[in-house]
Parts: sequence; structure tokens; C-alpha cells
Amino acid sequence: MADTFAYHYKQGIYLNITNRCTNNCIFCFKNFQKQKNPFAFLLLKKEPKLEGILGSIQLDYNTSPSIREIIFCGLGEPLLRLDEIVLPAAKIIKEEYRKNVRINTNGHALILYPGRNVAEELKDAGVGAVSISLNAENSEKYNRLCRPKFNMQQRVYEKVKKFGKACKKIGLETEFTAVEIPRERISSGIIASIEKCRKISIGLGIDFRKRDYIN
Ligand code: SF4
Repeated sequence: MADTFAYHYKQGIYLNITNRCTNNCIFCFKNFQKQKNPFAFLLLKKEPKLEGILGSIQLDYNTSPSIREIIFCGLGEPLLRLDEIVLPAAKIIKEEYRKNVRINTNGHALILYPGRNVAEELKDAGVGAVSISLNAENSEKYNRLCRPKFNMQQRVYEKVKKFGKACKKIGLETEFTAVEIPRERISSGIIASIEKCRKISIGLGIDFRKRDYIN
């Protein structure tokens, strides 16, 4: 079966541009058994090229012009393909389709691209919104739930919050999210407090959205 680069959900086209990620969350779909994984169709054999992604958007858009938003996601971290896909594609989407462009990200941009102002680059390319996985109310829980693949000295959780603040500051529509995981689903016993995540987000002036655990 051919890889799925783009799919519809509600009034959005979701772009599945990579399965690679700088986290390895204990609740990630990629860690589900393939037979039981409702998102197995998003497991890519090969990452799509820019032309392939743009072609998929055009096809989907032609068949469903009521689309309101185009979202970069993955079963992975889309900003790992910032230069080759996200920035050029966002520019074209904005110019040709005049649709809202959103990025669903784990928020690691400040570690991936030190010295760059990724928030500003996204905005300049036409991105209007970012949805950032906060996932925990403190660094210790974040590291145990999301298992970032960076050296711990990188203070990943703090940089996720900092990236959110940078996005908000320049006027991107910004939200933090956290997955509410049923206690019986977590073998480690670590569970994030959705209410504390919400408080942290609101304290930073950033909207918060709870995400459902899907299995
Ligand atoms: S950030 Fe998302 S894609 Fe990456 S490991 Fe966590 S759940 Fe999976």
C-alpha cells in the first residue's frame, strides 16, 4: 500500500511528513502494536518529498474545497523537516490556497535550531498557528513521559515552554496540549496533571487544550 502523506480530519488536511521524532513518548502511537494501531496507515516507508506533498494537497483540496486549515504533523516531529518541507510548503500553501497553516509540534525547535528564530521563520512563511505538546507539569515528569532523545543538560521541558512563549509573543495563535492518559494505561505509574498543565499554560498567557488518549 502506498504511503499516506495527507488525510482529512474534520475541516483540515493533515500532512504526515515524517515518522522521526526527538521524543519517544510512552503513549506514542508508534509504540502500539501494529495490528492494534489505528494509525498504522500513517507509518511511512519513505518520507515524502516536497512535490509529493504539494501534489497530495492539490488532490485533496480539489475533492474537498471546504477545507479550512492545513496542518503539518506526522507520526513524528514535522519541524525536523523545517527547511526542506515546512517553510517552502507553508509559503506555497498560503499563497496558492490562502488557508490557515498550523504546525503540531513537540516544541523542540530551540534545541534543534540553536541561534535561529524558528517562530519568526514560521510566521514569515505563512504559518498562523502552532499546537505544542507540553504533556507534563514539570521537567521530571516530562522526561519520564516523553523520554526526549537529547542530553538532559538541554533542559528540554524549559525550552518547550520557551518556544511556546516565543510563538505567542510574535502573534502566532499558540496552544499547549497534554494527553490525558488513563491511569491503567501507564505501566510506569507516571501521570501528568492536566489541571497543572492548564495552569502553567494560562500562567504563560497561552491557551491550553486537553487531548484524549486514543488506542
Ligand atoms: S512527540 Fe508525538 S510523535 Fe513524538 S514520540 Fe511523542 S507522541 Fe510520538
